[in-house]
Amino acid sequence: MSEEKILRKPEWLKVNRTPLDSYSNLHSPLNNGNLHTICESGMCPNKAECWSQGTATFMILGDICTRNCKFCAVDTGKPLPPDPNEPEHILEVAQKLSLKHVVLTSVTRDDLPDRGANHWAKCIQLLKNANLTVEVLVPDFDGNRDLIKIVADASPDIFSHNLETVRSLTKQIRTKATYDNSLHTLDIAASFGLTTKSGIMVGLGEKFEEVIEVMDDLLNVNCKILTIGQYLQPSKNNYPVKEYVIPQIFNEYKKIALEKGFTYVESAPLVRSSYHSEKIL
Ligand code: SF4
Repeated sequence: MSEEKILRKPEWLKVNRTPLDSYSNLHSPLNNGNLHTICESGMCPNKAECWSQGTATFMILGDICTRNCKFCAVDTGKPLPPDPNEPEHILEVAQKLSLKHVVLTSVTRDDLPDRGANHWAKCIQLLKNANLTVEVLVPDFDGNRDLIKIVADASPDIFSHNLETVRSLTKQIRTKATYDNSLHTLDIAASFGLTTKSGIMVGLGEKFEEVIEVMDDLLNVNCKILTIGQYLQPSKNNYPVKEYVIPQIFNEYKKIALEKGFTYVESAPLVRSSYHSEKIL
């Protein structure tokens, strides 16, 4: 078996750590409400930046996923039933932190007959009723129109679903999800009049032209908001980084995407799906 070459992390990916104290006010309400943030589960490199500003992405429907994507740090297994009090807990924490904009995401709940769509809708409605703006970063709901409609009817301000990678690598990187199903999910959401958004990670072995193809595919389903960031391997058991893409290439992706017709693009090594989400509105 050939040994994987371990790449050294370049300077542009080194993040200044903010001391815990500056965001400890977020820890206590999260713990009290038994909530999870993707900032922690996803080992996001921007955690310090976002948390120090009182911004966080809440992960609903538990922290155990029914899928097992090769890039993802979330645990796989048999999830617990949804917590019926979770929507209220999120609102409570958001209000304690005086947030104006909240990002929600979740693990994929293939175990639930509605894939968690009704729980999603309750969380969105509660936050919207309290005058917060909401971006949802959702799983694919199996591309089921009825389930996506349940979420759409709750009127999130942004409906986000990530393609995660280029078409040719999808099978290797994601489990169960397909590239076309994800495009279909975005297409359905746009057909309900929602503003849609998607993102990919680069550095997984994709070619430049394949990233351009992602842009065209997204525009074809009326998705005009795009994020592109560097993939970072969360643990030795995850898919290895194939390349650290240089910042100039990220700039080039951004330029091309805007020229092609995207209305908002975040493309830089440390960009993650919900990075600067509030700026889109
Ligand atoms: S479906 Fe989402 S949460 Fe689950 S393993 Fe894949 S990326 Fe992680």
